[in-house]
Amino acid sequence: MTRAGRRIAIRGVVQGVGFRPWVYRLARERGIGGRVRNGTDGVTIDAFGPEEALDGFLRSLTESPPPAARIHGLQWVPIAAESGEDFAIEESRSDGTRRVSIPPDLPTCAACLAEILDPSDRRYRYPFTNCTHCGPRFTIARDVPYDRPATTMAPFRMCAACQREYDSPLDRRFHAQPNACPQCGPRLRALSESGEELSGDPIVLAALACAEGRIVALKGIGGFHLACDATSDAAVARLRRRKRREEKPFAVMVRDLAEAEALAIVGEAERALLESAERPILLAPRREGAPLASSVAPRNPLVGLLLPYSPLHHLLLAEAGRPLIMTSGNLSEQPIVHRDDEAVERLGGIADLLLVHDREIASRADDSVARVIAGGPVVFRRSRGYVPRGIAVRRPFDRPVLACGGHLKNAFCVGIGDTAYLGPHIGDLEGVETLRAFEEAVELAERFLRVRPEIIAHDLHPLYASTQYALARPEPVKIGVQHHHAHVASAMAEHRLEGPVIGVAYDGTGYGTGGGSWGGEILLAREDGFERLATFRPIALAGGDIAVRQVWRIALALLDDAFEGDPPLEAFPLFSAVPRRRIELVCEMTRRRIQSPPAHGIGRYFDAFGALFLARPVSAYEGQVALEWNMAADPAEDGAYPYEASAAENLVILDLRPALRSAVSDYCDERSVATIAARFHNTLARATGALVRSAVARTGPLPVVLSGGCFQNALLTERVLAELEGDVRVHRHREIPPGDGGLALGQATIAAAVARGAQGGS
Ligand code: ZN
Ligand code: ZN
Ligand code: FE
Repeated sequence: MTRAGRRIAIRGVVQGVGFRPWVYRLARERGIGGRVRNGTDGVTIDAFGPEEALDGFLRSLTESPPPAARIHGLQWVPIAAESGEDFAIEESRSDGTRRVSIPPDLPTCAACLAEILDPSDRRYRYPFTNCTHCGPRFTIARDVPYDRPATTMAPFRMCAACQREYDSPLDRRFHAQPNACPQCGPRLRALSESGEELSGDPIVLAALACAEGRIVALKGIGGFHLACDATSDAAVARLRRRKRREEKPFAVMVRDLAEAEALAIVGEAERALLESAERPILLAPRREGAPLASSVAPRNPLVGLLLPYSPLHHLLLAEAGRPLIMTSGNLSEQPIVHRDDEAVERLGGIADLLLVHDREIASRADDSVARVIAGGPVVFRRSRGYVPRGIAVRRPFDRPVLACGGHLKNAFCVGIGDTAYLGPHIGDLEGVETLRAFEEAVELAERFLRVRPEIIAHDLHPLYASTQYALARPEPVKIGVQHHHAHVASAMAEHRLEGPVIGVAYDGTGYGTGGGSWGGEILLAREDGFERLATFRPIALAGGDIAVRQVWRIALALLDDAFEGDPPLEAFPLFSAVPRRRIELVCEMTRRRIQSPPAHGIGRYFDAFGALFLARPVSAYEGQVALEWNMAADPAEDGAYPYEASAAENLVILDLRPALRSAVSDYCDERSVATIAARFHNTLARATGALVRSAVARTGPLPVVLSGGCFQNALLTERVLAELEGDVRVHRHREIPPGDGGLALGQATIAAAVARGAQGGS
């Protein structure tokens, strides 16, 4: 038998997921000699043995990799054969090029959970238990390659027992970088609000505090959480007051699936999301009479649930014996706190007790959020559990791109080689703190990827902090990308569509090419450009951004427009809540176009209808009334309202004023709000269908993509899908958020295509 040699390079998420031990076992089973090592670009294997054995070895490498591994590419070249049956796992080398292969953080596995619950195990009740199948990854990584010295576990020296596990190829903890035990690993402490250490079992103290209605700050995986009894209105109200968060829903951590099912309606697809390795917050319809404080999610029929994903969560939930609010540890609008020193200072005023520990968090990562729409999962916020997993793009980036994202729900994106990396959720770039968090996260991504971006992509809005950051960067190539074009391109990237496509981009707002606020757009889009085919008749926003909160202004403007200056105000309780003088002022402003910029966003139609028919003058947070209008709809209702379409130049304008007039007459006929809301949704879906079909008539059959924050609306998405079914091929988001959290991915691919075009390449 002749011996041959092969050097096999594997790229993807292959570090920190038990990949090398698995390769080791595979090689031993098949009598292959050689070695495996981590590099900055993945894993490299030198394999020696008979040809047939090598073929079999290669096949099995791709057939059943460890559960958390993701192989993006495998290539091999022949090398000179070496003798010997030994197979070794070599130390890491940090030469080579970029390409992050740090895996996302993984939830506690069943084997580790069993250990922490077993009184005879040496890790009984130890909150930092993990193995190669589970535990923190991205959030403890300081650099690549992902090895213990490059993580925040570096200061902890393994005890003899842990070292034995770490060194033994057949152990579950073989090369588990965060491996630890009570003897040698991080230690949990309970602190008073002023920072003094409390004596007693920290988990028992924290559970007790929750049971007494107090608030606990706990250091989790990607940052601090604030926790309290989710069944107690008094506790939740106290948390709202101290965190200064009026009505935005809080997420609830439940002990297990059974508890989730007691609180919400959890189907097959929902269960899969809850239990997925990413462990996102699942939005699901709250069960009637569920034992939850009503202040958890005021006026919202959905509730956000998540399962424990660290041993600390498992132990705390078991000890507390009740569902707990689990919300980001911060003041409203600030980034999540992730360091102990800031915790006492910034959370001491909110929490009565703090659970801290000495394993540092290197990267913030908020909980991700997802929902099931039309039978499939859609990620609304892509952060912990997903980041920094790469997204393979259709066309490689010639030069590295940094895309800075939007203003709200910001996430940036780095494009390099054939992969795009969306960064963690940063939040709304309103304050200095958030901007600093954004800059830190960008710096870290540049380090992990060993990249100096050459192209900087940004939104067209001149006042977005992300735009200003982009323009201040030293790199000379800056490319501004239209907001809705970026939304559409993010969906194209997710589905690896070359374009052109017909893009339906519906959201609240985004800067148009000539300024102005867009958001109800049908685009004919390629990666390097687009044509605006259709939009919705704009609504005048009296006072600009003020109207986004004071939604009665939007309702009034639309009503006044639809009834041509003679709005039937007396029919609506909404307006009895507003002083006559202010109503007159707003009418005056919108009619004479004084400080009343026109807004095309579909979100504004939701605001207007919601305010009017639900009698809700003010949104406590952006999109609140729009969401209520969505939730008010009766899904059994099929009726719809009329609309009109006209064309100016090559742009179709869709006019929903006839729909509002019909809705008003339904309302005066005392038809239920649930019916009116459903008819509103159906009208939008039909109008969308008509717009898409007329676009297709112009362009020929093209794929259609749905993007923008409005496609977080399950009913709207389902109705639009049903409307287009059979006529065209429709793609919607799955793992890339439809909202502004996915924007940067589209910015990155557009900027790369535009730069290519400018260079004259194709
Ligand atoms: Zn484990
Ligand atoms: Zn140990
Ligand atoms: Fe948007």
